[in-house]
Amino acid sequence: MKVGVLALQGDVREHVSALIACGVTPISVRRSAELDQIDALILPGGESTTIAQLSEVFGIYDQIKDRIVQGMPVYGSCAGMILLANEILDAKVGQKSFGGLDITVRRNAFGRQVDSFESDIAFDDGSADLIRAVFIRAPWVERVGDGVQVLAAVDKHPVAVRSQRLFATSFHPELTGDHRIHRYFIEEVARPALEKVK
Ligand code: GLN
Repeated sequence: MKVGVLALQGDVREHVSALIACGVTPISVRRSAELDQIDALILPGGESTTIAQLSEVFGIYDQIKDRIVQGMPVYGSCAGMILLANEILDAKVGQKSFGGLDITVRRNAFGRQVDSFESDIAFDDGSADLIRAVFIRAPWVERVGDGVQVLAAVDKHPVAVRSQRLFATSFHPELTGDHRIHRYFIEEVARPALEKVK
C-alpha cells in the first residue's frame, strides 16, 4: 500500500516516520503525479489555511477533492481534520477545506481554554489501553453527521471521528512515538476499503 503524506506544510516528516514504522511505503505528495501514485493519504497537522492555499498554488486542490469523492481513504490530524471537515467554525475569511467528512469543526477550540496540552484518552479501537494525545491549537468537533462514528472525546467534545474511509483526530499521534493511530488508519480504515475496491 502506498500512503501519501501531503507535504506542503506542517509535520510531514513525523507522519512519514510513523508510516515507515508501520511497514507501508510513504510518498511525500506535492504534485499531481505523486497524487496519482498513492492509495491513501494523510493530511498532517500544521496550519489548515496555509495547506489549503498551497494546494491551490501547487494545482492539486481539485484533484485531492476528487480523489476523496472517489473513495480514497484519508486520515487528517489536527489541521488535517479541519481540511476534511464539510463545515468549519471560526474559519479565516474565505478558508477552504477539501471536505468529505460530514462534521462541523471549530478551529482552535481548545485554544480559548488552553493553547496546548497532553492527555491520556480512551480510543475506541477495541483496546482498553489509553492513548497519549497531544493537542496543539487543536480543533474539536461540534456536530457529527449521520454515519460518523465518534472514537474519542475530551470533555464530551469529539476529538477522533470516522466515516467509512475518512478518519480524523484533533490530536497529533505522530509526535508520541506510539503508532497505534497510524496502524488503525492503515489496517482498519484504508486496507479494508482498498480490498473492497479490488
Ligand atoms: N490551528 C491550526 C489550524 O487551524 C491547527 C493546529 C495544528 O494542526 N496543530 O489549522
